[in-house]
Amino acid sequence: MLWVGTSWKMNGLIAFARDYASRLTSQPADRWNGVQPFVIPSSTAMAAVHDELGDGSAVMLGAQNAHWEESGAWTGELSVPQVADAGALIVELGHSERREYFGETDRTVNLKVKAVMRHGLRPLVCVGEPEASLQAGTSSDYISRQVEAALDGIPDTTAVLLAYEPIWAIGEAGREPGPDGIAGALTTLATRFGRSVEAILYGGSVNAGNATEILALPGVDGLFVGRAAWNVEGYMEILDVAARCAAGPRM
Ligand code: PEP
Repeated sequence: MLWVGTSWKMNGLIAFARDYASRLTSQPADRWNGVQPFVIPSSTAMAAVHDELGDGSAVMLGAQNAHWEESGAWTGELSVPQVADAGALIVELGHSERREYFGETDRTVNLKVKAVMRHGLRPLVCVGEPEASLQAGTSSDYISRQVEAALDGIPDTTAVLLAYEPIWAIGEAGREPGPDGIAGALTTLATRFGRSVEAILYGGSVNAGNATEILALPGVDGLFVGRAAWNVEGYMEILDVAARCAAGPRM
């Protein structure tokens, strides 16, 4: 099974979200055989997306963040029970933008992973090295440390999704990775954690043109996509590519 999802970051109003989700659900049931699609909208649009997808949808819904506490005086935050109530099955944690701009640390990511798992949801743990680490040749060490910290003290991590998202590759300022730039880090993740987590995804400047090449890299079980999936046609194109890869021989 290849996991292929998108986070919309801070984009999309409710009408957009409804339209996007209804376009996905109106596709033939077998269009993306072998692929597990997931969509992570902004929190204001989660309930609307859930409503359009319906219970038991083939497309899983996710949240972009959740606090580690169950409830309380945490103004501006959402708890895991709240995102679950809105229909989320996946919670994205530790994205580099949250680490850089909102004070997310390895320790808070770990607390959040534990909270998400306590409630039976799937954490999607993002890790990725900065440019300086890439240049220094320390990418594998950097991301291994992030994963170890995120999963510290969790005896069973088989529900965890890991997303390798090198900071130099994501977002507007990111550059498309050649396979050589990411293969080593992905192999390290697969070797060290591949057997103890559900899947290892790659994210960062993924598009329909490079998806096949990235999915062919050893240890890659899926894709996590930003900009190229912010319109539903773009997302469906990438899902089609993944379905073709899933139907072919896997490494
Ligand atoms: C991201 O920021 O997590 C991401 C994958 O973005 P993009 O695909 O736009 O590089």
